[in-house]
Amino acid sequence: MGRRLIHGLSGAAVFLVSVALLSLQHRGAEERALHSGLREGLSEKPEQRSKASPEREGDRGQKDLRVHPPEGYRTEGSLTLGDVFIAVKTTKRFHQSRMKLLLDTWISRAREQTYIFTDEEDDVLKRRMGGHAIFTNCSAEHSHLALSCKMAAEFDAFLASGQSWFCHLDDDNYLNPRALLKLLSSYSATWDVYLGKPSLNRPIRASEMLPNNETKSVSFWFATGGAGFCISRKLASKMVPWASGRNFLSTSELIRLPDDCTMGYIIECKVGGHLLPNMLFHSHLENLQLIPPSQLMQQVTLSYGVFENKLNVIELSGPFSPQEDPSRFRSLHCHLYPDTSWCLQPGVGW
Ligand code: UDP
Ligand code: MN
Repeated sequence: MGRRLIHGLSGAAVFLVSVALLSLQHRGAEERALHSGLREGLSEKPEQRSKASPEREGDRGQKDLRVHPPEGYRTEGSLTLGDVFIAVKTTKRFHQSRMKLLLDTWISRAREQTYIFTDEEDDVLKRRMGGHAIFTNCSAEHSHLALSCKMAAEFDAFLASGQSWFCHLDDDNYLNPRALLKLLSSYSATWDVYLGKPSLNRPIRASEMLPNNETKSVSFWFATGGAGFCISRKLASKMVPWASGRNFLSTSELIRLPDDCTMGYIIECKVGGHLLPNMLFHSHLENLQLIPPSQLMQQVTLSYGVFENKLNVIELSGPFSPQEDPSRFRSLHCHLYPDTSWCLQPGVGW
């Protein structure tokens, strides 16, 4: 009887201790969860601050209250535009017509990280971009090889830069640096990341030339160069054997397709990466009028061009008229950066 009582009491004691221990463990888990939640919340702050940095360039008389992390220190989520290498491909005949528009608009907000790759020396370009105007020896043609030559120069310059992200653009793209940072912040440059707009709704098929004069059928997705695309450093470093120096041209010759297809081929067929389709990149091969005006400010890239003899541009009513601003890029820029000196005052024509 006494023994049973002792047994019963000790059983109850074990039960009570276990319950106490379990509840302690539970609290510990809750605290950890709360803590990591707080950490996530905190880690968003430097990112938000850094996102604000490029667009604040033009702020006048405002104190910069941003707290900069110590040199060389980087926490997750603190991506800044300084981590991105932006390459714009152009050619001499578009320096005046297309590049001036870009220099006046988005490049003015991302000058430090933007490099222009062209085929002829130009004093105006040099004056405005300094060492960021790269005069390649590529020929001024629209041939696959001439275009791949410029892409190779862009890729090599990125590899040498040490920056985390490579983004390519055509000279008829508007890049929204804020939207780009927001997008890239969802990924890590230490992962294999290839972001852009698929050119087709299925993989492209190509014939790869083999050394014995035979061919092999390959298929892969690629991001259309005309909408811009981005590649993480991790993925880019894996692409080196096929994409750096003269290798890019040889790879391009292997499948006899343009530069943007060659990028997709290297990533998907050689490295084993995958295109992550993203709806925020746009080329003039799609109907740009279909993007709701309320969502224009969130898009990473936009474009303009002629389609079936009609101007294919985004739908934006002002502040500039279609005659003053046929591409609509100046109007969009004023919506994104109203502090720009040549933007009309809000209320006039908006
Ligand atoms: N481009 C070039 N050399 C040329 C023609 C075009 O480097 O001889 C560049 C041009 O500056 C642009 C891209 O290639 O950045 C695509 O050209 P475009 O927009 O004229 O043609 P698309 O392929 O979009 O129809
Ligand atoms: Mn184009």
